[in-house]
Amino acid sequence: MRAVVVTEPGRVAPADVPDPRPEPGEVVVRVSSCGLCGTDMHILGGELPPVTYPVIPGHELTGEVVEVGEGVTVPAVGDRVAVDPNMPCGACHYCRIGRGNLCEDYRAIGVTQAGGFAEQVAVPARCCYVIPASFSEASAGLIEPLSCAVHGLNRLPRRPGEHYLIYGAGTMGLMMAALVRTAGAASVSVVDLNEERLAFAESFGLDAAVTSADKLALGKGPGFEVVVDATGAVPAIEDGLGRVRKGGTFLQFGVADPARKAAFSPYLVYNSEIDIIGSMAVHNSFQPAIDVLASGLDLDPLVSDVYGLEDFDTAVARFKAGTGRKIHIAPNQAKEG
Ligand SMILES: [Zn+2]
Ligand SMILES: [Zn+2]
Repeated sequence: MRAVVVTEPGRVAPADVPDPRPEPGEVVVRVSSCGLCGTDMHILGGELPPVTYPVIPGHELTGEVVEVGEGVTVPAVGDRVAVDPNMPCGACHYCRIGRGNLCEDYRAIGVTQAGGFAEQVAVPARCCYVIPASFSEASAGLIEPLSCAVHGLNRLPRRPGEHYLIYGAGTMGLMMAALVRTAGAASVSVVDLNEERLAFAESFGLDAAVTSADKLALGKGPGFEVVVDATGAVPAIEDGLGRVRKGGTFLQFGVADPARKAAFSPYLVYNSEIDIIGSMAVHNSFQPAIDVLASGLDLDPLVSDVYGLEDFDTAVARFKAGTGRKIHIAPNQAKEG
């Protein structure tokens, strides 16, 4: 079969690889879509420590089960599934206190083992969630990132009637915006420097989409009850920390460069009783993400591009340009015509 292979940091290309076979407890999924995300860029660039090269990346995948290994009863051949790529060890301190996303022995599909930028992939059956036939292909491919946003929402106090400010109008920021809206936000505004993204954000139902929080009455005034960073960019984080209303919450949702530090005023955190919290990946949020989509949340407009496997380079260039939204790779697209 064909798959995108990262042989070493900086070297990535579609290649012929052996078809996967299911080990006991595994199934083989014929991948219909797999989302490209920042984590893949870190794998391509070699900045993500647990990766063992060569690796087939891709952790936001959906498709159809085409083969099941020994002992597998669910899912069955023919089932449409979304795959939770995270595989906590179950044995470390954090797994045993019920915080598997903080696992000390982190393994994940598309990171430490073959992922979804391939025609087929073998995955543990327990990572598969059967999804309805009614889901659009775009929605099905967005379940994994949405489950990250659901976990982020779960980390927030979720009090109705509060005003939210989100930094970053990319896919993750807009998913968070859609979710906090369903959780009873009084208003949701977004800050981004990219005008193209801001124009889309306005069409996506944001109350305000601006290049600086100074342009917002609450930004200049009392601040927002909840500020979410979905950029990982230090200037955005520092600006956002200063826009939290007294008694409010700041959520670090974006992935920052591990080497960078952000400055904040400890006095402000003390005197205004600001909660600073973090949210990392997926935690008990995969099924809820599916259920939110099934309830009618329409995220299809978030997918801006779909490329075949052989166009992976073009997809990466488009991602790095930062002008689109979610990019999906459809590994079997060429075959299906
Ligand atoms: Zn991702
Ligand atoms: Zn663990």
